[in-house]
Amino acid sequence: NPPTVTQIDSQVEQHGLKKIASGKVREIYEVDAKTLLFVATDRISAYDVIMKNGVPQKGALLTLMTAHWFNLFKEKIPDLKTHLLSASVPESVASSLPAEVSDQLRLRTMHVRRLKVLPLESIVRGYITGSAWSEYKKTSTVHGIAMPKGLQESQKLEKPLWTPSTKAEVGDKDENISPEEATKIVGEKYAKKIEELSLKVYQIARDYAAERGIIIADTKFEFGLDVDTDEVILVDEVLTPDSSRFWPADKYELGKSQDSFDKQYLRDWLTKEGLKGKDGVEMTDAVVKETAKKYREAFEMLTGQKWDEVVKNGA
Ligand code: ATP
Ligand code: MG
Repeated sequence: NPPTVTQIDSQVEQHGLKKIASGKVREIYEVDAKTLLFVATDRISAYDVIMKNGVPQKGALLTLMTAHWFNLFKEKIPDLKTHLLSASVPESVASSLPAEVSDQLRLRTMHVRRLKVLPLESIVRGYITGSAWSEYKKTSTVHGIAMPKGLQESQKLEKPLWTPSTKAEVGDKDENISPEEATKIVGEKYAKKIEELSLKVYQIARDYAAERGIIIADTKFEFGLDVDTDEVILVDEVLTPDSSRFWPADKYELGKSQDSFDKQYLRDWLTKEGLKGKDGVEMTDAVVKETAKKYREAFEMLTGQKWDEVVKNGA
């Protein structure tokens, strides 16, 4: 079994790839002026803190799931552009790296276009849950948008709703905002385009997932700008268990919170052990195993591919 990777080998940088950013999950390196290596580690966060140990092959799973969606959209939404160039390490880069480093990057790396990321988290909600449900209970609104009376927890919304949030600096929390506030941040032209593309992508993905037994309750996109052509381009990861709430359709029950596919086991364990929000928590083997199992289940249901075969042969 490949080892769990929470840190990318620093030899990547010694071999000429400058690290330009490090997120909770990903490390981003410059390949050339126009392109990046977008590398997902096996790190996992819950309640906004990163666990000390990782979940084996989670990074590869997020990368390949994102690539799966991008390829589907190429067919179904021909006017959508994405940042994906290829779901692999470009040959020119791979050939200059030691074999063990190339091995570490294998399956977890995308070669992407480097773009100016527009400072919004573009959330689409098909169901009312999480922070939207908390707000609704208090004010009958969701991100400031007036909602019908009498909605129940986890209820399907009449139409999917575009509910942006700010993109906070590292360590800060993203803040839910209204579509009007989003317009003030990125301007009317880009806000409209982001809303339109996000709703289109969500609806295609929702229908695709529904046929495979998964409800996509909500999800978060990010967009970048090609400053040469003024085009708005879908970037980052998309429609993964890290960026979305996936619910098993056969367990759906109106009027209560739903078990999500992926991190629920970890969150419940953290709560039970009094470790919620604490730094540097080491997950037990059982928690790691159960979490890995859930991510794999979601991958297999959505892509129709067997995870073990993907790891052996590539996607
Ligand atoms: P944070 O950076 O706040 O920790 P995160 O945990 O979601 O957020 P990661 O997923 O680890 O971050 O890293 C992805 C980062 O890369 C995000 O900040 C995202 O905005 C940025 N990004 C995604 N696609 C591109 C792109 N094509 N060009 C430049 N930056 C990108
Ligand atoms: Mg991210």
